[in-house]
Amino acid sequence: MMAPSRLAPFRRLCHWGPIAVLGIIKLITWAMVHLIGMWWPPHTSILAAIHASLYLSLAAATLYYFLQSLLEGPGYVPMGWKPAREEDTQYLQFCSVCNGYKAPRSHHCRKCGYCVKKMDHHCPWINCCVGHENHGYFTLFLFSAVLGCLHASIVLSICMYHAINRVWYVHNGTGREPMIYLTLTTLLLTLLAIGMAIGVVLAVGVLLYLQIRGILRNQTTIEDWIIEKAAGRREELGLPPFVFPYNIGWKANFKMALFSSQTDGLTWPVREGCGEYDLTREQQAQKLDKRLRSRLYTATHPYNGRWVPLVAHPRAACGAPCSDEPRLPLQPGDVLRATRQRRHWLFGEKQVVGSTRGSRGWFPRACAVPTDDLCKTKPD
Ligand SMILES: [Zn+2]
Ligand SMILES: [Zn+2]
Repeated sequence: MMAPSRLAPFRRLCHWGPIAVLGIIKLITWAMVHLIGMWWPPHTSILAAIHASLYLSLAAATLYYFLQSLLEGPGYVPMGWKPAREEDTQYLQFCSVCNGYKAPRSHHCRKCGYCVKKMDHHCPWINCCVGHENHGYFTLFLFSAVLGCLHASIVLSICMYHAINRVWYVHNGTGREPMIYLTLTTLLLTLLAIGMAIGVVLAVGVLLYLQIRGILRNQTTIEDWIIEKAAGRREELGLPPFVFPYNIGWKANFKMALFSSQTDGLTWPVREGCGEYDLTREQQAQKLDKRLRSRLYTATHPYNGRWVPLVAHPRAACGAPCSDEPRLPLQPGDVLRATRQRRHWLFGEKQVVGSTRGSRGWFPRACAVPTDDLCKTKPD
């Protein structure tokens, strides 16, 4: 397996996500320049210049931080990485794809194809993960996009109001009302731009809130799930509550997320009383727990891997899991270890003789029958 090439960051641009982001920025910027020019002709009003320069600065910041987070990338764990002390490998999981240990806080991203340092999530809009090295840029991208779109949605809505009333102004106005002319095409494009801008404010606004909350706690989206699972698991076993080791105070957390050079992304400062491998040990315990709760199944019917198997499994097709995780084609006789279940679907791993890891994915529950009793399976 090769390390990411130097050209890889530029190739990330050739994907529907980044192309859509660039298209949205272009559309809203066009609408703003076109309408501000008519509302306040720049040579007559200082207000026009202020609004135009405010919007253009926010659009430029959005574009800059977007490209930075895409080109910089999340930072990957080096191939074949292992901790400095050999004995620490017992606390870490091994990634068979990257042929190395997973550093604390790193996770293997199936789409990027590498173990990502401090992985938060894989973002289709930047066509790579948000992780250690681009977390700050990504947050600033969200921040400038929300502010720019908020400004654009207000200005464009006021412009639309004047455009709709233009005929009325001609006959009944004072002559000082702004005259905004829109053709059918420019009207439709402006409506689309307003819709996009409001959509960004709402959807990206929520994401921005979650990112800022995570940054202040130094806790990624994936770590939110681990902590949630830890709470349930430890309560069930009567263990003391899990203390998240990387929350070292909001100011230090904030600095660490915004300036990735503060750490190498492989080792992390921990709060007092916590150990360097507290989180990875909890992850190992959760993995073992998941394995103990898993069930063995044997496929009885073939499944071709379709996301919506309408003809073969109409019930499963109606309740397909809302997840972009892979689907797992089956042949009768395949043995599977299922770790998650939905009403009509199971998520499992194909058991391949002589291999530690088979392919994983969702398959319709009706294609397989359980072949052991719950909790009877022993971990390797
Ligand atoms: Zn990996
Ligand atoms: Zn990724």
